[in-house]
Amino acid sequence: MPTVSIPIIQIPLQKNIHLFLKREDLIHAQISGNKYWKLFYNINSYLEQSPENPFIITFGGAFSNHIAAVAALGKVYQLKTLGIIRGEEIQDKWKENPTLKLAQQNGMDFQFVTRSAYKDKYALTQSLQKEFPTALIIPEGGTNESAVEGIQFMLKEETKSFDYLCIAVGTGGTVAGISRFAEKNQQVLGFKVVDDRSLNDKVLELSKRKNFKLLEAHDGGYGKISDENIRFINDFNEIYNIQLDPIYTGKMMMMLFKLINEDYFPAGSKILTFHTGGLQGIFGANELLKKQNRELIRF
Ligand SMILES: *Cc1c(COP(=O)(O)O)cnc(C)c1O
Repeated sequence: MPTVSIPIIQIPLQKNIHLFLKREDLIHAQISGNKYWKLFYNINSYLEQSPENPFIITFGGAFSNHIAAVAALGKVYQLKTLGIIRGEEIQDKWKENPTLKLAQQNGMDFQFVTRSAYKDKYALTQSLQKEFPTALIIPEGGTNESAVEGIQFMLKEETKSFDYLCIAVGTGGTVAGISRFAEKNQQVLGFKVVDDRSLNDKVLELSKRKNFKLLEAHDGGYGKISDENIRFINDFNEIYNIQLDPIYTGKMMMMLFKLINEDYFPAGSKILTFHTGGLQGIFGANELLKKQNRELIRF
């Protein structure tokens, strides 16, 4: 359990809407937010079996917050970690990638696979488990049943009084957990940063409740960063002194502000959003933006 306390702070608005932000990003610079809670039961139950040479294998893209989190947890718990990274072409230039460089410093080894091999994760997992029978293999983004269970720790006594719970959605595990553990009267809003129509069914299957709604917030596609979003993130930081990331929380918050401006929420609503972290991704994002001669995210 993290020893840091996770504050809930108010984001003052000019409207009769009470907006609050729960700072899960403060858990750890690289094991931030929901990734920590998604890994919590997965890694603890694996370690409870006292494996002889504990070894964790997982999957991700080159800028993945999940890869960063697993590598950093590996360092904290002194576990061997292996990242299966999407894209063979990164093999020769991963040292230029801030996420992978830091993951390697935290002790992670890599295996780079082609995009087509990466797509067939079932076959990949099968062959890895055969090669490393005692390893714990965690799926991409960390989403599985244990991950959804771990999300319960993001909800506390203080979160029960909110009407809406808002969260960024990638693979859907986090919003499924929020949905599963929300109070009866609470409405869960998931902001999809991935253009994926199958997410609704996936979240329903994991949460087994219908108290959630998924909204489009991908703003051009997963990992795409619009100028509008960069400006929003920088303005938000200047006004509220809170750093958002360009892949998840920045997109969620920009869409949430639009909804608030359009009076989507009844007057007097109490809204809680979760800052799920992802700030390590800013370094990689800024390197791309610099190459494109675009405005950078101030950090
Ligand atoms: C992974 C991630 C999410 C989305 O979590 P899912 O369970 O994959 O939907 C949200 N915010 C941040 C910062 C993340 O890294």
